[in-house]
Amino acid sequence: MTDAAAHPVHATIEGAVVMIGFGSIGRGTLPLIQRHFRYDPERFLVIDPDPEACAELARRGIAHRQVALTPENYRAVLDEAITPGAGFVVNLSVDTSSLDLMRHCRARGVPYIDTVVEPWAGFYFDTESNAERTNYALRQAVRDEKAANPGGTTAVSCCGANPGMVSWFVKAALLRLAEDTGADAAAPTDREGWAVLMQSLGVKGVHIAERDTQARAAPRPRGVFVNTWSVEGFIAEGFQPAELGWGTHETWFPENGHRHDTGCRASIWLDRPGAITRVHSWCPTPGPQFGFLVTHNEAISIADYYTVGDAEAPEYRPTCHYAYHPCDDAVLSLHEMFGSGRQQTEHHILSEDEIVEGIDELGVLLFGHARNALWYGSRLSNEETRRLAPDQNATGLQVTSAVLAGMVWALENPNAGIVETDEMDHARCLEIQTPYLGPVEAHYTDWTPLQDRWQHFPEDIDESDPWQFRNVLAT
Ligand code: NAD
Repeated sequence: MTDAAAHPVHATIEGAVVMIGFGSIGRGTLPLIQRHFRYDPERFLVIDPDPEACAELARRGIAHRQVALTPENYRAVLDEAITPGAGFVVNLSVDTSSLDLMRHCRARGVPYIDTVVEPWAGFYFDTESNAERTNYALRQAVRDEKAANPGGTTAVSCCGANPGMVSWFVKAALLRLAEDTGADAAAPTDREGWAVLMQSLGVKGVHIAERDTQARAAPRPRGVFVNTWSVEGFIAEGFQPAELGWGTHETWFPENGHRHDTGCRASIWLDRPGAITRVHSWCPTPGPQFGFLVTHNEAISIADYYTVGDAEAPEYRPTCHYAYHPCDDAVLSLHEMFGSGRQQTEHHILSEDEIVEGIDELGVLLFGHARNALWYGSRLSNEETRRLAPDQNATGLQVTSAVLAGMVWALENPNAGIVETDEMDHARCLEIQTPYLGPVEAHYTDWTPLQDRWQHFPEDIDESDPWQFRNVLAT
């Protein structure tokens, strides 16, 4: 296959392309931008405060500014870099406010994309109230901005693997389930239609069910936090309270659970860090497994998007949360960190070259319906990743290829305003992304959280409905 056939150019970007952050995701996104967009390489700029990242950019002859964006300087730094009314800002950094950056880009008419709703430095650990440290609060601020300023220049919020791609998988999985159960499998054309489809199929909830089996040959050294993507990002979200979209089928309420009294009301939070809150879940490789209920934007956005009826007293809403089994070295790192009460001072992201085996199995588990449960997702190996694209492991490619798809969609829909991935054309986005996802598969299972438990000890479970969160939450 020729390069042009393997790497089609999807769109032209006029003006400056500005990437904020050149960490694991920035590095992996760069080759995809180079392959799939027509743009002026002379007008490509990276902003990152890290000397090592900047040295790497200098080696590659890529223009960069070594500066940390702050609430004080971001307008000036961006205004020097962007082309008003054109170009693109691709935000792949930590410690920068997604809301402020997207607002500024939209005011200047510059398309924008990010992969999380990131706050300015200090938010995650200096904010006193746990309710204010939630992703609900971060997301709601972006939703309020959308409501106050509808339409206008497109800014895609939270378009990585999860949040991001998994919202497209939910739609693909719903259509698959509709087809397999003999229901109407035509794709709905609006949000209400999708919500009613999920309701009519009897889906009680969705796990973002992930198992990362990527591993290197050497054992993890004590005192080093090892992960397959941003350690800083993972520690920050792991210390936020566990959060989940709260479904209408739930009959029990956790003792440490809290609702919100403003905003979309789609989720609740638990007075406990997500990275030590375990849930029973299922992925194709391990079958039943423990995942961590780490808070994520998509747990809230999916529950919100698929709500039928009034936000405060919905007729239908799915439960939705992350059930994340990170790579084994990250599990050990978490164990060490929470056990000692101290963050490791050394961080390490496993590179594609040191990983000797494993896949990142990331999908959505739709449960509670006529076929019990359906896992739908990507089972991308590191080995295949190395053949598909440079400078990233499997976890990275699932994220960066979603950024690529989101950028293409934004260029094709330049005046869509602020959007989340639930609100985008999932078929178009997956068309762009799928060549980078390895096997994308649907697996039905008859497993429920009532099975494979520790039978010798009494548990507070509800045997009348296997898919109650009470049964999913591990005690
Ligand atoms: P990383 O830690 O490897 O890199 C982050 C980069 O941001 C670093 O190079 C750092 O120097 C830079 N940075 C720090 N402070 C900055 C500032 N003030 N201004 C500009 N740049 C700054 O992280 P990563 O793995 O590349 O992840 C990047 C972002 O993507 C994180 O917010 C992470 O949570 C998010 N992410 C999302 C998904 C998803 O699926 N949605 C997956 C992985 C990562």
